[in-house]
Amino acid sequence: QPILAIQHLEKKYGTTNVLKDINEVVAEGQVICVIGPSGAGKSTFLRCLNLLEQPTSGEILYKGENITRFDRTQLSQYREKVGMVFQNFNLFPNMTVAQNLMLAPQRVKKESEGDARKSALLLLDRVGLRKMADRYPEQLSGGQKQRVAIARALAMNPEVLLFDEPTSALDPEMVGEVLQVMQELAEDGMTMVVVTHEMGFAKKAADRVWFMADGYVQENGTPQQVFDQP
Ligand code: ADP
Ligand code: ADP
Repeated sequence: QPILAIQHLEKKYGTTNVLKDINEVVAEGQVICVIGPSGAGKSTFLRCLNLLEQPTSGEILYKGENITRFDRTQLSQYREKVGMVFQNFNLFPNMTVAQNLMLAPQRVKKESEGDARKSALLLLDRVGLRKMADRYPEQLSGGQKQRVAIARALAMNPEVLLFDEPTSALDPEMVGEVLQVMQELAEDGMTMVVVTHEMGFAKKAADRVWFMADGYVQENGTPQQVFDQP
């Protein structure tokens, strides 16, 4: 059974049909890179996967359960399991890096401050930022902020991570360090759906590439199949 199955997914804004009959599956441990021109619907698609947007019709099954019918409690549990990393980091500016990572484990999982801090420091090690634990987001570079955002998503011990153009807001010299962290997650077996314009990353890290245009997944293949066409 796939971890995510998308069936006849459609999203309309008014009369504009932005997603048109999307049917795809994500297997556990897979890295899916979603590519395609601006306006194709990639971001809307990803937001539907986290129900930040409500689909107009169709189903999204998480381990066989239709998430579009979840009540509030089920939805918040789902969002613990399916984390999201945004283009603009969305860190809490008035909290330190460590506090950003500790917030959800303390509030949602009722972890003690000591345990949450311990886990936070381990996660910061993993993204190479332990020494930044007590800084504030504004004191970090864009690449560091995004690595903190990834660590924060990991703090809930998710089964799937969704990335919405995670390197698009970064200065070019910072892109590599974020992609490196994502590559390591992929190698560790994390299931990931990544909307990206980084074709090098897609070639190297993706198990499947979904090429979206005009509201459809027009191609679904291995990087080789999608990129090395005659
Ligand atoms: P199309 O939509 O182009 O007709 P599919 O989306 O059904 O094609 O995918 C083509 C092939 O790839 C099918 O054999 C399908 O089972 C397989 N496939 C689709 N999505 C995945 C995925 N995420 N991982 C592995 N195989 C997949
Ligand atoms: P992509 O991520 O591939 O660039 P988006 O999902 O951001 O594409 O947008 C797809 C289309 O949906 C675009 O034409 C965009 O203008 C439209 N769109 C996105 N969000 C909204 C919204 N909240 N209201 C109306 N139209 C929207």
